[in-house]
Amino acid sequence: MGAYFSISALIIIIIFMIDFFSKERVKNHETDIYKYLLIVSAFGMFFDVLTSIWFKMGLDYHHFIYTFSCRLVFLYLVVWGMIFSYYIKTISLVKDIDNKLKKVRKIYYYTLIILVPLILFLPLTYNQVGDIIVPNGPSVVVTYVFAIGFLCYSVILAIKNRKVIEKKKIKPIYVLVIALVINTIIQVFFPEAFLISYLLGIIDIVMYFTIENPDIKIIKELNMAKDQAEKANRAKTDFLSNMSHEIRTPLNAIVGFSECLLDHQELNGEVKGFATDIVDASHNLLEIVNGILDISKIEANKMEIILKEYHPKEVLESLGKLVIPRIREKPIEFKTYFSPDLPGTLNGDVGKLKQIVLNILTNAAKYTDKGEIILHVTCVNDIPKRKSVLYISVKDTGRGIKENNLKNLFRKFERIDEDKNTTIEGTGLGLAITKNLVEMMGGKISVYSKFGEGSIFRVYLEQEIVRMEDDNKEEENSVTQIKTYDGKKVLIVDDSKINLKVAVQLMKDYRFDVVTCESGFDAIDEVKKQDFDLIFMDIMMPKKNGVETLNDLKTMKKFRTPVIALTADAIEGMEEKYLQAGFNGYLSKPIDRDMLNKTINKFLGGKK
Ligand code: ADP
Repeated sequence: MGAYFSISALIIIIIFMIDFFSKERVKNHETDIYKYLLIVSAFGMFFDVLTSIWFKMGLDYHHFIYTFSCRLVFLYLVVWGMIFSYYIKTISLVKDIDNKLKKVRKIYYYTLIILVPLILFLPLTYNQVGDIIVPNGPSVVVTYVFAIGFLCYSVILAIKNRKVIEKKKIKPIYVLVIALVINTIIQVFFPEAFLISYLLGIIDIVMYFTIENPDIKIIKELNMAKDQAEKANRAKTDFLSNMSHEIRTPLNAIVGFSECLLDHQELNGEVKGFATDIVDASHNLLEIVNGILDISKIEANKMEIILKEYHPKEVLESLGKLVIPRIREKPIEFKTYFSPDLPGTLNGDVGKLKQIVLNILTNAAKYTDKGEIILHVTCVNDIPKRKSVLYISVKDTGRGIKENNLKNLFRKFERIDEDKNTTIEGTGLGLAITKNLVEMMGGKISVYSKFGEGSIFRVYLEQEIVRMEDDNKEEENSVTQIKTYDGKKVLIVDDSKINLKVAVQLMKDYRFDVVTCESGFDAIDEVKKQDFDLIFMDIMMPKKNGVETLNDLKTMKKFRTPVIALTADAIEGMEEKYLQAGFNGYLSKPIDRDMLNKTINKFLGGKK
């Protein structure tokens, strides 16, 4: 019976060896150890089979070949135990693995050097008990002592390190214990059955499935698929941001001219209505384009935190003002509350803060038909640590959000109750962007909503306190008032004729002397001919871009004119980039009239 078990164990191990060695393997401790375990098993099982057959054929068991085979089987049992315990040691280690294993290996090598001659050369005798031959003598004693010693050591190690060892990797230990028990029982009833190598073979097979041996081919294929997906995603992101950029340029003309149209006194009611609609629609389009730019940047991990000092009350108040036009003629009361202990100056990413609050406020205005919208800002200041946690909440009495929709609220392109939304413009990007921005700034956003009654969006953000007192008494109100600058000379450089036209139109009321150029080269020639008080310079121009033109201008003697970068690169951080490049100011296209006004006033004196 023992012979059949031995033969089948050998066949199975050979099949596993073929599979294991024919596949590309990861190079780690586990596969390395397992490789030796398989080799030793196959080797031991071969001699086990040989002795079984020898005995079955009734050949002389005192023969040299039989004795030698028996000794090799003993050696196999000890070495198998040794490798197994080494494996358990390996999976029990958490840190400094290589060094510790080196030491263990050293001890094992020495043990092996002593054991091999002992097992191979110590006396081996045979006792015949009935039909069976039981090997005996010092060689057998050494074998049993060490084999059982290693196996017990493995079990103890596994028990001691059970918390560290991965659950599935403990399985061979269970199998080992069960195998030893089964073996002992069977040996009692069928002493002729030598099953131990068969049982060790089973443990080899269990280990095959528990060691860290991923299919490299599949991993390679998965990685390839992942690379392709990432590439496609990058291409999509690049496409979106390029498209957004391209759309901004014509949009500049639409926004600019429609706003100019609105200014015309002689427009009659209906035409004025059309112009208002164009302005609204173009602003919406701009918002969508900005949203796409933002989400592309977030996905490409290109969004950065840009710290700047700002006055929280002024910033948040101005956002409130921006949202009033969105309410239109709806019977909604817009209220604000700012805690008196709001620090005067904070340091943080004010651009993102504005975007976050504006998104939430805009949603409140969009999804509320009547009642009120309250912007409530409080804070907790830790003055010694110079930290202030802003609690910004926006409460509305709008249509609210159903509970089962709340979980999808912050997912991109997710719009809730799509059918009801059809008349309200939006892409479903706003809250996804908002959440990303809040988290990027280390804050939290939460929402409480009751369907049919309204919602409260809350944002918590920690910001650094620069000054507690409010020292910002400047010009905020000078924004909308346009002053005239007769006699001042302004140069506008842009390769797009239509953009030049928009800019000229927007600056008409200031009554400057405006000169336009369509390239950097012309601009340099123009500056050589006459002095300007202010220059607006487009960045993306063929042949000589805005930055190169500026650098050339700066090499000219006596050139002192402030130069404002004018670009459709409305990506956050661009302002800092262009200021660093040497520009004195930055305006994004489509040109915002208030920003333009501020810039002009700042550089041309303003108090005229
Ligand atoms: P968008 O407004 O462009 O659709 P958002 O991501 O800003 O996208 O909002 C996602 C959805 O969440 C909206 O479509 C709307 O259904 C819902 N929502 C957002 N804010 C509110 C609110 N204040 N009241 C009711 N529903 C809201």
